[in-house]
Amino acid sequence: MWAFLDGEFVQEKERLVQLENRGLTFADGLFEVIRTLEGRILFFEDHYSRMKKSAEFFNIEMRFPSEEARRIAVELVKRNGIEDGELYIELTRGTDPHRDHRYPPKETRSTFFMLALPLRKIDSTSWRDGVKLLTYPDLRHGLCEHKTINLLPNVLAKNFAYARGGYEALMFRESNGKKYATEGGSSNYFFVKDGVFYTPEVDNILSGITRGKVISLVEDLGYEVVEKRIALEEFFNAEEVFLASTVSRVMPVRAIDDVSFEVCGKHTAKVMRAYEDLFFSAR
Ligand code: PLP
Repeated sequence: MWAFLDGEFVQEKERLVQLENRGLTFADGLFEVIRTLEGRILFFEDHYSRMKKSAEFFNIEMRFPSEEARRIAVELVKRNGIEDGELYIELTRGTDPHRDHRYPPKETRSTFFMLALPLRKIDSTSWRDGVKLLTYPDLRHGLCEHKTINLLPNVLAKNFAYARGGYEALMFRESNGKKYATEGGSSNYFFVKDGVFYTPEVDNILSGITRGKVISLVEDLGYEVVEKRIALEEFFNAEEVFLASTVSRVMPVRAIDDVSFEVCGKHTAKVMRAYEDLFFSAR
């Protein structure tokens, strides 16, 4: 399989990233996961501009302008013969032999790579029968609006869920003894109650590309969408729950811990249909 690394297309044996790369030693970097469908790259601009904004925030050099990055991505997907797959992009603050917390010298180049991978296997019955979520404390830092490669708490949360037959974690933070829902290890959440859609506001959670598209679609369908701080118990009292992410798209939730919900209720079904239409027609 080909990868793209710092300016060239490389095969496995040529993928040389130094062990002192700050992505490895400090998780000092950003990433994106983008869907490909029949060889097309979906919503590239949305993903790449999110990375660019975060790179500016963290002062990491963005080596390739968007148009060039897109051309590279198209070429990589083609070289690897990927039809339905995932494009992975990572940007780190580069390699500094000193392993020093302080930022490396100005002339240090950032490290940028792309992988084009076949789509991970998801049981197709998940979209019909719904998935289970397990609640888990949100142990992350205060920079969760950025898609950073600091993913250890997400890994812990998701594996807590997998070990109990779940598909994802529903993470929560506590404030004054009350638990508030945040997001999943790699998903955003919505619920429906009395014909209104609710989703946690973007306050130290990722503003998911799928989340944004779902909000627009739901509004186009004539619904009200409320973005606010949401107590975990509001999720438990919901009528319908679903998750949204690049890889899972819109997926119904059948249970959170031991509380069950109607799967693909009439409101969720409409959003799923609208998202699938957008997804299959996206360029
Ligand atoms: N929340 C987190 C923490 C994520 O890592 C992701 C995606 O990986 C999402 C939400 C969903 O975001 P998107 O729709 O951009 O894939």
